[in-house]
Amino acid sequence: LQAYGDFTTNEVCAAGALLDYVQNSQKGALPLLQPIVKMTSSTVMEIDNATRRSLELTISLNGTRDNTLLKSIDYTLTSGGGRLLVSRINNPLKEKSLINSRLDMIEFFIQNPQARLAIREILKETGDIERALGRLIIGKGGPRDMLGIKNTLSLTPKIRNILRFKSQESKIEMPIPPVLGNVMNNLGEHSSLVAKLQKAIVSDNTPNFARDGGFICEGYSAALDVIKTLKCDSQKVIANLQDKYIEATKINNLRIKFNSLIGYYIEVPNKNAESMMQNPDFIFRQSVLAATRFTTVELTELENEVRSASDKYLALELQLFDDLLNDIRANSACIVKASQAFAELDIATSLAELAVKNNYCRPVLDDTRIFSIEGGRHPVVEQALKSSGSGAFVANDCHMDDNCNNLWLLTGPNMAGKSTFMRQNAIIAIMAQMGSYVPAAKAHIGIINKMFSRVGASDDLARGQSTFMVEMVETAAILNKADDRSFVILDEIGRGTATFDGLSIAWAVVEYLHNVNHCRTIFATHYHELTSLKDQLPNLSLHCMRVKEFNNEVIFMHEVTTGTADRSYGINVAQIAGLPAKVIKRANNVLHNIERQNKGLSAEQVAQELPLFEYANETQINTKQLSPIEEELQKLNLDELSPREALEKLYELKNMF
Ligand code: ATP
Repeated sequence: LQAYGDFTTNEVCAAGALLDYVQNSQKGALPLLQPIVKMTSSTVMEIDNATRRSLELTISLNGTRDNTLLKSIDYTLTSGGGRLLVSRINNPLKEKSLINSRLDMIEFFIQNPQARLAIREILKETGDIERALGRLIIGKGGPRDMLGIKNTLSLTPKIRNILRFKSQESKIEMPIPPVLGNVMNNLGEHSSLVAKLQKAIVSDNTPNFARDGGFICEGYSAALDVIKTLKCDSQKVIANLQDKYIEATKINNLRIKFNSLIGYYIEVPNKNAESMMQNPDFIFRQSVLAATRFTTVELTELENEVRSASDKYLALELQLFDDLLNDIRANSACIVKASQAFAELDIATSLAELAVKNNYCRPVLDDTRIFSIEGGRHPVVEQALKSSGSGAFVANDCHMDDNCNNLWLLTGPNMAGKSTFMRQNAIIAIMAQMGSYVPAAKAHIGIINKMFSRVGASDDLARGQSTFMVEMVETAAILNKADDRSFVILDEIGRGTATFDGLSIAWAVVEYLHNVNHCRTIFATHYHELTSLKDQLPNLSLHCMRVKEFNNEVIFMHEVTTGTADRSYGINVAQIAGLPAKVIKRANNVLHNIERQNKGLSAEQVAQELPLFEYANETQINTKQLSPIEEELQKLNLDELSPREALEKLYELKNMF
């Protein structure tokens, strides 16, 4: 395996177990195996399951494909392209050059709309050759799979011509990017295989399975053609025999028929049975309701000839099928490459189509920690608003600098668009790193290594976890794993428990994210008390959703601005939702009383009374300049050190004095 890369024992064991399973389940017919590829955390952005669910990347929270990122950006035309899109959404890259080469292809197809449209027309004619090849290799494919492979491979020169023509034409415009050149090469040269399949496989009524026979073209095999003539001739001989028997017996209704149970037989109506019985040439076989059946020595001999011609014909066809299969097997690596190239073209042209139709921009990616989005939109919500005709989506900016301003505290009323804003930024980052244009006017993103999202409550009652427990488990995962290259969105942490417990947890989480994780974060909350953390945490910046009040009604502007929301407007939202007027009136009274009781206590004072405030001071120590030894110590994960490694580390630290 060393030729394929450096694999750990665990990886080799896992691959071995998979191979064993395949061998077992396929009964020795090993499918086409691609070389094993090591996917490390250094190549793809880490996205845990909770985050995938919450961002509704390929499956929505209600378990369907509707309202997912996949559904809203999927313009692919082929099954291979569709599968590749799912894989790209699930595995955004971290390698800038790879992402940029994908973006170069999309840009090329945006700049060359004619080439894009022409290629998309051709893609509509392609079949799923990856699957067809897979079926053929494991012995489950048939002539129709071969026909599909031939039809699809025969399209490669057309695509190359479009691009070659374009590359000659577009010297002044945009030259073909190197990655597209590779795709063109990978499409490959298949003329001899295509010609052979073209000559061999019939294109009308091609059967699914070789055992059904009748799939080899006339003229492909001289031997097969000879048997075919024999087969047809014996049919004629049988017809002549029938005429001869009619002549001899004077029974005009006499017929020679065939069924799979008794083979060929002579059938006469029952009224003529008696005279046939008298004739020594005819041997009685059986009586059915309205007819009697006979045979003759001559007919039995003829039947044997016909049968053996049919058997020979099918046997030879199956042999020719196997020969063709060997040719396909010998070309399988090129066919796989071609199918991947078709999928790549599908993805590139469909993402270009998406970008043009929805006005997306090419993101700039680098190794900074900047996250700067101008005029960002949520692709799914934007489309939903468009198709329901409920108004335009309000675009919003999000600017986080390399080293400051990267923890956003977002306040605002319910229904104002906080979750949408947070999710849209996470989705824009994922789209950028999967190598797609993004729904924004401008986007500059320092490559993100891990994405975390805790937006929207969900419980896991099946696994015995309450909503609050799920929230805490997911938050714990974020605090333990996020680092300074990660991107985190957190929504209303702590709302599932008593107010002060919740506020305390939210408070401590914000401090920890700021002082320990140093990740880029958007933290949405209804605890306005948290805004007082601004004075202690220099990288924290305050933002809120703008609302307008008009005639005692709240109007959501869906606009993100700097500052803090003054109220939650929860009761107004409850009123819009249709809570009985009496309940709304009573809630307003209760709110009024509570506010009166708290009068004089500023948000900061309320927060200062929290026991966790001491922790704020404590964690601030972490922001001070650490000595190299302290830094080394902080990096250590004691639980993962062996006693020997611990001792070596101790010597190393000692030597640092
Ligand atoms: P809550 O605090 O109750 O969870 P929220 O502030 O998170 O609410 P969202 O769920 O993000 O609010 O948004 C509510 C609705 O507002 C969305 O379903 C969407 O229809 C609309 N909306 C959100 N953002 C925008 C926007 N930028 N432009 C237009 N409509 C928007």
